[in-house]
Amino acid sequence: RARKRFGQNFLHDRQVIDRIHGAIAATPGERVVEIGPGQGAITEGLLTAVGSLDVVELDRDLVGPLRDRLGALGALRIHQADALSFDLCALPDEGERLRLVGNLPYNISTPLLFRFLEQADCIEDMHLMLQKEVVERIVAEPGDKTYGRLSVMVQTLCSADCLFRIGAGAFTPAPKVESAFLRLKPHRPLPYPIEDPALHARIVAAAFGQRRKTLRNSLSKLIDADLLIETRIDPTLRAENLDVASYARLANAACKSLPIP
Ligand code: SAM
Repeated sequence: RARKRFGQNFLHDRQVIDRIHGAIAATPGERVVEIGPGQGAITEGLLTAVGSLDVVELDRDLVGPLRDRLGALGALRIHQADALSFDLCALPDEGERLRLVGNLPYNISTPLLFRFLEQADCIEDMHLMLQKEVVERIVAEPGDKTYGRLSVMVQTLCSADCLFRIGAGAFTPAPKVESAFLRLKPHRPLPYPIEDPALHARIVAAAFGQRRKTLRNSLSKLIDADLLIETRIDPTLRAENLDVASYARLANAACKSLPIP
């Protein structure tokens, strides 16, 4: 009954579900939002712990059963909507931040992640189940094989920890990939503030878009080689050698010195 196009793989393993609840450690009165509650595997414990919960679910056929099964446990507000366009920041009261939870549909996990990052201002933390390889890319450090655009973009805004791995057998149907549970906590304040986020994103994308080339070459359309030297970045390095702080420094220097078309 699970729908592939909605990326539905429902968690059934009680131990894994308990571990997820333990890692989140939600307490009464917190503003918790779950993305893709599905049949409620994680929802039930969250709602019991917190007493009220917002959930965002795209599949309208799951909404009724979810309300019937869990509605009595607390104030369950079900938003039948696409999380890719849903305005999370409209949920919390002024000055309040939400805690985001989700066993995400893996087919759209990266765009969803970027959508959440756009809304980081109103997010206290995120606990997300993702494909193991995606989590590895997010937490990777310079020099790691999986270090790339996703690592830099996420780590510029958040601290990122892989909490544990989960085998495919914990889900019905079992996905073809392994999973991992990730905690992201938006930095406040940012350790390396970015003056022009769009320019920073372009530089990171260009560097890793041609990751075998030297920075001098991969960034030639965006940045003069002299600027690399001025910002104490060796132009013969490659994208994978540069840490998050260096990408921020470079983007801020480029923002000041160049008329970017
Ligand atoms: N949380 C449940 C669990 O752990 O068993 C279900 C997880 S399942 C991997 C992903 C869930 O996200 C499904 O319920 C699916 O219908 C929902 N979903 C898929 N695309 C979505 C979207 N764009 N916005 C909101 N929910 C979506």
